[in-house]
Amino acid sequence: MSRLVYINGEMVPSEQATVSVFDHGLLYGDGVFEGLRSYNGKVFRLEQHVRRLYESARAIRLAIPISTAEMCKATNHAVAANGIQDGYIRMIVTRGTGTLGLDPNRCSDPQVIIIADSIALYSEELYEKGLEIITTSVIRNHPAALSPRIKSLNYLNNILAKLEGLKAGCVEALMLNHKGEVAECTGDNIFLVRDGVLMTPPLDAGILGGITRDAVVELAETAGIEVLKVSLTKHDVYVADECFLTGTAAEVIPVVRVDDRDIGCGRPGPVTLNLKDQFHDLARS
Ligand code: PMP
Repeated sequence: MSRLVYINGEMVPSEQATVSVFDHGLLYGDGVFEGLRSYNGKVFRLEQHVRRLYESARAIRLAIPISTAEMCKATNHAVAANGIQDGYIRMIVTRGTGTLGLDPNRCSDPQVIIIADSIALYSEELYEKGLEIITTSVIRNHPAALSPRIKSLNYLNNILAKLEGLKAGCVEALMLNHKGEVAECTGDNIFLVRDGVLMTPPLDAGILGGITRDAVVELAETAGIEVLKVSLTKHDVYVADECFLTGTAAEVIPVVRVDDRDIGCGRPGPVTLNLKDQFHDLARS
């Protein structure tokens, strides 16, 4: 289905929303992006996503040519112009057209793109039964090489991990960091529950600061659940009572098997189900 895509201030049919083959976003993955969701035509946590986008851009010294307020307005416009109620939105800012050399200073026209589309969801069955995942051999990017807090257009680290997961028949895969600690999954953050306490790796484990992760922490704390942001090992995962993942597309999804081991009793646990329902309601409220 043809969509109207926002590109550099204009809404154009998707076939006409193109960038140069010399754009460094294409040549080098030099750029940043965000994935958002709309519920009932309203974008969930738009300001937080825009903030993270501009922080990612700052971290790679990319000046986004429009203000954060303009970005919010353009996003809402892209959703409305496509008549999208429950959908997925992708914001992209590329470095722009340059030469075949690496030098980003020779790129002068960052491309600002917003795509509002329908969303492909995991099946209801997966939410009821829970996911099975593996730990991949691909470690998360070393923060001193490329900080996982930057949501950059270079997702090869995650893609290599995802390929290994898919080969093993898993739609998600757990990535450890360079210290062997639990980091996150290829496109989701991870949480464990042990003795009623919720645990998730801290930002300095080398993870993306997930917006769903923040929302789930808030929900848990409001419900009086203790939340610890602590470094975790594979051992902690294997002995956890419950495990779940969070992400914009997945929301909250239970994990019931990791590396061929049942987590808890091998079924989604009560804390997970409670937070899944609470997040579901929050996003749609
Ligand atoms: N980690 C990674 C690597 C991701 O790509 C995502 C999805 N953006 C997440 C975590 C979850 O973040 P969010 O809740 O903001 O979607």
